[in-house]
Order: sequence, then C-alpha cells, then structure tokens
Amino acid sequence: MRTSLAVFTRDLRVLDNPALAAAASSPAAVPAFVIDDDIIRRFSAHANRLAFLTESLADLDESLRLRGGSLVIRRGRWPAAVLALARDAGATAIHVADDYSGYAQRRLADLAARAAADRIEVVRHPGITLAEPGNPAPAGGRAYQVFGPYYRRWQQLPVRPMAVTPDRIRLPAGLDPGRLPALAELTTACPAPARAHGGERMANARLRAFEAGGLAGYAADRDLLAAGHVSGLSPYFHLGCLSPRAVAAQLAGRPGSEEFLRQLAWRDFFHQMLAAWPGAAQRDFRSRGDQWRDDRDALQAWQAGLTGYPVVDAAMRQLAAEGYMPGRARMIVASFLTKDLYLDWRSGAAHFMRGLTDGDVACNQLNWQWVAGTGTDTNPNRIFNPIRQSERFDADGEYLRKYLPELAALPADRIHDPPAASRRACGYPAPIVEHRTATAEYRTAMSGHRARRAR
Ligand SMILES: Cc1cc2nc3c(=O)[nH]c(=O)nc-3n(C[C@H](O)[C@H](O)[C@H](O)COP(=O)(O)OP(=O)(O)OC[C@H]3O[C@@H](n4cnc5c(N)ncnc54)[C@H](O)[C@@H]3O)c2cc1C
Repeated sequence: MRTSLAVFTRDLRVLDNPALAAAASSPAAVPAFVIDDDIIRRFSAHANRLAFLTESLADLDESLRLRGGSLVIRRGRWPAAVLALARDAGATAIHVADDYSGYAQRRLADLAARAAADRIEVVRHPGITLAEPGNPAPAGGRAYQVFGPYYRRWQQLPVRPMAVTPDRIRLPAGLDPGRLPALAELTTACPAPARAHGGERMANARLRAFEAGGLAGYAADRDLLAAGHVSGLSPYFHLGCLSPRAVAAQLAGRPGSEEFLRQLAWRDFFHQMLAAWPGAAQRDFRSRGDQWRDDRDALQAWQAGLTGYPVVDAAMRQLAAEGYMPGRARMIVASFLTKDLYLDWRSGAAHFMRGLTDGDVACNQLNWQWVAGTGTDTNPNRIFNPIRQSERFDADGEYLRKYLPELAALPADRIHDPPAASRRACGYPAPIVEHRTATAEYRTAMSGHRARRAR
C-alpha cells in the first residue's frame, strides 16, 4: 500500500495544512513529529516555547486520533531520524512545510539529499507564511528590503486554495507510535507562570475571542499597552497552530481586519528577508560600524526590569511573567536598549528569544534590527522617548500598575516618571541613564560613524 509521511515542523495543526493534506491523500499516511536534538540542545533554556510545543503536540495528537490516526513521535538528528521513520513505514514520499531560516533550509536540503539515495521523494509545501518568500519578488532583486512596496504587491497576490482538512488518517499497521515528550525531557528551566498555552484548539478559541472583542477596534487601539487591544496570537502563528491563510480568509472584510492582515504582511516580509539573507539572523543587515557599549550592569538592569523607566520595566517584567509583550512595548524596550543604553541589539534579541513564547528567528531578529537601525530602517533619529510613549499609550497607567505593583498607588500624572521622593518611598530605582543625555550621546556616536563611512 502506498504510504506517505507528513512531517510536522512548525505547522502544528490539521486545518489548512498542505503537507498533511497531501500525505493523507495516499492510501496510508504517517503524521509525524521528529524532535530535533540539535534544536533542543540550542534552545534548552527556552522553556516557554518548549512548553508551548509539548502542549501543541498533545493537542495535534488528539485531533489526529479523532481522525483514526495518531501523531508518531521520533527523536534524534532530524534528517536521519525522519529518513529512518520513512524507511520503517515503507513511505515513498515525505511531505513537509517549507521553512526559511538558514538552519531550516540546510536541514531540509540534507533530508532531500539523503532521501534521494533511497528513492524517497521529499515534497515541500507552503503553509508557514501567507505569501511564500520569493513571491512577490522585486524586479531583479532577491527579496524586498522595504515594506511599503512589498505590501502593495502582497495585497494583490492570488491566494492559494485552502488545503483539505483530512477527515480520516489511515496509519500503516505495526508502526511504533513513539511517545509524546514530557517537558522535563526537553528542558530543566521553568516556563513563565502566566504564559500562553499551546494547541490548535486553544488558538482557535483565542482567535474567536479576538474576533468578537478586539478586532473592530484594532486599527485605532493596537498600540495601547493595556491588555485586550491586540490578538495575542503570535505564538500560535509561530508554531503553526493557526494557518495565516485560514485566518486571513476568516477575518477578511471585517472591520479592523485590514490593519490586522497588514501585520501578517510584516510577518511575511521578514520571512522573505530571512530566506534571502539568512545571515541577517546574527549579522547587521546594513552595518553602520556601531561600536556598541559593553555594560553588563545596564544589560542586567534592563533584563530585570530595573532601569527606573516604568514603561521599560513594566514590559520587561511582563516578559518574565507571561513570555509575551505587546508590539508597542517591544519597540520601546528595544529602542531603550539600543539607543539610550547603546547596547548591541543581539544581546536584547537573545534575551527576547529566551523569554518569548512566540520567539521567532525572522520576526525577532529582523524587528530588533529594524529598531536598532541596522536593518531595513536606518533612520538614526527613530528614538522612542520612554516617558512620552508611556503617557501616550498608557495614559491612565493601567499597564504600569499591573506589572509594577510597587508603583500601584501613584496617580496617573506621576506614575510615568515618578519624582525622586516617590521613587524612594516606593522602593523603585532612579533612572539608570538620563534619556536626553543618553540619546544625545547616541546621536553623536551615529554622526561619527557616518563621517567615518563618508571618508
Ligand atoms: C524588538 C521586537 C521583537 C519582536 N520579536 C518577535 C518574535 O520573536 N516573534 C513574533 O512573532 N513577533 C515578534 N515581534 C513582532 C510583534 O511585536 C509581535 O508579533 C506582536 O507583538 C505579537 O503580539 P500579538 O500577536 O498580540 O500581535 P497583533 O498586534 O495581534 O498582531 C497579529 C500578528 O501579526 C504579526 N505581527 C504583528 N506585528 C508584527 C511585526 N512587527 N513583525 C512581524 N510580525 C508581526 C504576528 O504574527 C502577530 O501575532 C517583535 C517586534 C519587535 C519590535
């Protein structure tokens, strides 16, 4: 009986999953997840994402069982372990979602090379992004470097048909299903107490809640820091518990959906950049010759939420408590690290990747570069004033009070930048740098780099 393997990676869903749909159209199909030891070793401290992964796998297994199958689990060096499973199952084809980091591309190429020797076909499918990298592509270029023109083309792209959700999975007889991993097998670190929980069902519940509650006001309110104005769907998009294609179809035409879908276009934009320039995950996309300061105390104060800037500290403490931060807060803290403190964006990005449940190489590293000014936005004057941002996007201080209980009793006109006496009384630190002085120094450093480059 012809058998196909569907190898899930970060497309952990049954709805609109092209790789699963293709495998399930064979007489027998093996839906599988292979725990990649290289990834686990690299990310063993990233407890939020690993916890989210184990929950998403358990949910997927349940959905497959409802369809007569189950999720087959293996562990090892990914390409070798996938191929070994394909051989055990007698599969003639391996269906898998295409993915775009340098590591993902190498691992897929390695699998294809090994499988070819066994005459097993490896078929890559879309599904992780809405628009696949390379389509749209700029005339004569590898990928778009500016969002505006990318977005204009993105809006006009024909959408692929939704993949059929299989109603029945026929596993070949006698295959060892393996065992879902327990979190303790992947990490000894503790996940954040109030993090999001994984799984396609959880994702759909959250999507429905956002559709009913936040979507209509999204365009006007998405920068407000207090909870309830954004979707919180990013970890579900990251691990593919949601199909961006299916979400776009579900929300299209609803008030607020245009702005929401524009954010999914940003996600696609960064994925097409990473696919074209995988080195941008670590190297400056456009180097300005920065000589970042090396200041461990400042970095630690930023990480711990003890900078003395309430909005920065609230956001960093939210990250520690929830593994999440809204987009506006991410921009504020990233600007503070790279401009006020003039510390290397890579140290901030690494801390985010450790803490975020949605930590995503394309979205994280390239957004960090965007804020730092080494990426697609090189405007050196884009500096966020943390006090003005706080007054503007958390006017009554609701967000600050939630994450900084020591400031909870302060009124709205004093909470954004408490006077020295209030700080002392509340046990809250003085600012570690003075914003105006620090950013003036930053601008001077920038003009020095520009002058050196011009010589
Ligand atoms: C410094 C920095 C680091 C970031 N790191 C990550 C990361 O690791 N993973 C991640 O998914 N996003 C990252 N973002 C992008 C964005 O902040 C988050 O996607 C968003 O805040 C997630 O919350 P949400 O789902 O409630 O967003 P919503 O406002 O509800 O947005 C809906 C979806 O659109 C996408 N999206 C929104 N804004 C962006 C953006 N600027 N770039 C790319 N996609 C976007 C996300 O998939 C998000 O779930 C980062 C942004 C900055 C400035």
